[in-house]
Order: sequence, then C-alpha cells, then structure tokens
Amino acid sequence: MTDRRVTSACIVGGGTAGWMTAAALANRLAGLGVRVRLIESEEIGTVGVGEATLPHIRAFNATLGIAEPELMRATEATYKLGIEFCDWGRIGDRYIHPFGNYGPEEDGIPFYHQWLRLRAMGDAGRLDDYSYPVIAAEQNRFRHPASEPGRVESSFGYAYQFDASLYAAFLRRYAETRGVERIEGKVVDVALDGEGGFVRDVTLADGRTIGAELFIDCSGFRGLLIEGALQSGYDDWSRWLPCDRAVAVPTESRGPLGPYTRATARTAGWQWRIPLQHRVGNGHVYCSDFISDDEAERQLVDHLDAPMQANPRRLRFTTGRRRDFWKRNVVAIGLASGFLEPLESTSIHLIQDGITELLALFPDRDFAAEDIDEYNRRMALHFERVRDFLLLHYVATERDDSPMWRHFRALTLPDSLAHKIDTWRTRGYVVPYQFGLFLPPSWVAVMLGQRLMPGAYDPRVEMIAPDALAAQAAALRAEVAGAVQATPDHADYIRRSPAAAGLAA
Ligand SMILES: Cc1cc2nc3c(=O)[nH]c(=O)nc-3n(C[C@H](O)[C@H](O)[C@H](O)COP(=O)(O)OP(=O)(O)OC[C@H]3O[C@@H](n4cnc5c(N)ncnc54)[C@H](O)[C@@H]3O)c2cc1C
Repeated sequence: MTDRRVTSACIVGGGTAGWMTAAALANRLAGLGVRVRLIESEEIGTVGVGEATLPHIRAFNATLGIAEPELMRATEATYKLGIEFCDWGRIGDRYIHPFGNYGPEEDGIPFYHQWLRLRAMGDAGRLDDYSYPVIAAEQNRFRHPASEPGRVESSFGYAYQFDASLYAAFLRRYAETRGVERIEGKVVDVALDGEGGFVRDVTLADGRTIGAELFIDCSGFRGLLIEGALQSGYDDWSRWLPCDRAVAVPTESRGPLGPYTRATARTAGWQWRIPLQHRVGNGHVYCSDFISDDEAERQLVDHLDAPMQANPRRLRFTTGRRRDFWKRNVVAIGLASGFLEPLESTSIHLIQDGITELLALFPDRDFAAEDIDEYNRRMALHFERVRDFLLLHYVATERDDSPMWRHFRALTLPDSLAHKIDTWRTRGYVVPYQFGLFLPPSWVAVMLGQRLMPGAYDPRVEMIAPDALAAQAAALRAEVAGAVQATPDHADYIRRSPAAAGLAA
C-alpha cells in the first residue's frame, strides 16, 4: 500500500484559532512526521477580542497537558461559573445561565418540573436558589467542583475569562516548543494547481512561497483561502442574528471580582462585561440597522462602571457560516469559518469543534470527498445548534420597546428552533439534540430566565406528596445556601492559589 499520509500542513493566521490549531496538531500528530508551519502577519494583527470561554476549553487544555495554574497566570484569567443576563426577558429582569444543573433529577425527571409544580402550588421562590453555581456567582464566590458525586458542590462546571491575545501567545510558545515553525509575513497571493484547483502554495509580500499539502485557513473574517481563493460561499444569517457591529473597550478592575460574564440587553443590541485579573473587558454588540456607531459607542461609555484604559475600538462582522468549511485541501477554522456573534461565548468553542472534527477526519493526500462531506455536515450542525440557542435569547422576551425588539417579534424562526420552543411550551419538555453544544439545562435556564413558561409540568412529579415536595425543596435550598457560605471569595481564591498574577494582595 502506498503511503498517502499528509506530510506538510500550513496554517494561515496566528490568532486564537491559528495557535489553538497549531498547538493541537503539534500535540496530536507528534510522531507522524507532519511538518506544521504557521504564517501570521504582525502588520495585520488579530481581531483582539474573545475573552469569555465555555467549560469545554478545559478539556482542550487538558489534552495538551496544560496545567491550569500555569494557564491562569499566563493569561490573567479568572473563573467563570456562567453568564448573567440583565434586561432580556423584561427591563429590570436578571438571571444567570450557570454551567450546571438545577437540583438533582428524580426518576429521570429533571428537577425544574418539581419547581414548576411548587410554583403552581403557590411557592414564589426562584429556581436559582437550587443551583450552587448561580448562588456562588451572585455572591462572587468560587471553588473547584467537589469530586464526591451527590454533593451540590459537584453539580457544576466552570470556564475561564482570559486575555485572548495572551492565550494565543501561550499556545504559540507551546506549539513552537513542539516543532511548529512560525513564519512572519503577509500572504499576498494564493496559487491553485491546474487540475483539481487545490491550493498549491501561498506567496508572501517579500516574495517567499510556502507550499503544503494541507492548508488550514485561520485568517479571520477575510477567509483568505477558503473564500478569497476557493470561493466557498457564505450563508448569511443576519435575518436571524442581525447584530453586525461591536465597539470594545477595556476598563480598570473595580469592586468585587465576579466569577461570571455579564450580558446586558440594550435597545439595539447588548453589552458585555468580562472581568479578568488585570482589567475588565467591555463591549457593545449592536445592529447597525437600528443604531449609529456613535450612538452605540456613547451607550457603551455611559454604562461603564470604571475608567477606560484605552480608546474604544470598532469591529464589523456578518453573522453566518461558510457554505463549505472544508473545500479541497483547505479547512477553515475560527472566524474564517463563520461567526455567530459573541453572546454565550461560543466562538472559541467552535474553534475547538473544528479542531476536534479535523483530527477525527484527518485527511491523507487523496482528500476523500466522503470525509470532507462528513466534516462539513458536522460543522454545519454545530453552527446551526449554536445559532438557534443564541436566537432564543432574542425571541424569548416580552420586550418590544425599540425597533430591534419589535423586529424579533415579527421574525420567522428556523424550523429547528420553532420546534424546540413549541415542545417546551406545552409541557416543559426540552427536545435533546443528537449534536449540539448546549444541553437541556442551558435551554431551561434561558427559557425560564426569560419568562417563557411552559403550560404544564411533567405529571409524574405528582407522585410526590405536596408536603414531601416542599420539604425536599427546602432541604435542597438550605444545602445550596450552606455550601455557598462555605465557598471562598473568588478574588481571594485566585490570590491564594498558584494562579495569581495581576491581583494585588
Ligand atoms: C466583538 C467580538 C467579541 C467576541 N467575544 C468572544 C468571546 O467572548 N468568546 C469567544 O469565544 N469568542 C469571542 N469572539 C470571537 C473570537 O474573537 C474569535 O473566535 C477568536 O479571536 C479567533 O479569531 P481568529 O483567530 O479566527 O481570527 P483573528 O484573530 O482575526 O486572526 C487572524 C490571523 O490571520 C492573520 N492574517 C490575516 N490575513 C493575513 C495575511 N494576508 N497574511 C498573513 N496573515 C494574515 C492575522 O495576522 C491574524 O494572525 C468575539 C468576536 C468579536 C468580533
């Protein structure tokens, strides 16, 4: 059998996507004789945002053998227990979407059905009071999950809020130590071979040409290879996710260090607040149909809670995805593959999905069409599931106080989301996806957090006597409250751990 293994890969772009890909290839293909090179241009730079992550990033780092304290020190990271959503269901509302469940299941029935029944019995308590990560986040406390199953302190996951450019630099050191060759230069031309239309090589501004069998396009929104050279096409999802601009600014750290990201709905978009050890990241994501750039920047600046550390920076994007994430010998990862706006911090996760699927279907030099189709099918599902979940935030609302919110009222939803909402409305059932990043507890958090109440609860909870149900719920609330009381302050926890970097003692 002839050896058809890929022996050379070239990553174009050195942002978070490029260096995550480089680190993963260096780690997972070590010993297979694949030469990995990465081209990046300091002159062009990176998008420079992307500070909030999801818990899955811990698995990515663990696979690379990266120790958490080292990562936290190198990236000025804080812990993240979830996202606080303010003013989404109604102005004045707030809820936290935690990385964890609410209460334990009983006989396979999720706990929120018990809460719905308690509510129907007249109990006005919050579902949040049954969630350890929500209460810990509200009180700015953090500890690592307990390992003993059954304790409320083991009922959650966590992620990081970090400086994304420091994360890319950290992964660059990791990848270069493991043999990835970095090439500084600006790609000015892409050459295709005559027959198959595969990318043969790229030419840099100084005249060098870099050839490879496999190219990974991590060049950001421009999609230099996947779009510029191969015209993959772009599915524009602005009709569902119309936010197309952002203005970002860092501020000084002031006040308690929240182990959560905040997303506050505004009239034409929403504002983020992401606390790191050394600063707070802020930004306003908005829809240019409904607000001017200057007004969006003014809204952001007016709502900052500390002095700015730099001038606000403006960004533009179009939500959607590449039609082909992988075409011929080019795989697009990161912003080159698509972008769905930063609500719920999914973009770095989609990079991780792209890398995982690429490693699972890593090609040989024949680039089998079946493998490419499967990659594209899987990535399309990852993107669609995330799209639906993001859109849920805009449509599960009573808000109609501005043109943007009224736009969402009149929107025709993707069938997949409409089905999910319809099924929820009748009896509180969350249709589980076979694929998909967000599991039912996340859907429950947003739907109940934004007042999308189901018409009924699972009738099987009526097998529990009302007194027993109330007593059981009270005991769980007390357990959560007690466990949170015993949880350290988030800032103290980081300061006392080997992860401390920027936090003053
Ligand atoms: C407003 C906003 C907020 C966001 N917030 C979050 C968040 O909280 N969480 C999250 O997960 N994600 C977030 N994201 C997404 C996140 O920023 C990106 O997924 C992440 O930074 C990866 O970007 P990238 O590496 O694909 O592209 P980029 O950072 O743009 O990197 C592109 C690279 O390609 C190089 N390049 C481009 N053209 C050439 C050329 N001609 N020659 C050589 N090199 C070239 C550049 O120099 C650069 O190195 C956010 C995005 C936006 C727009």
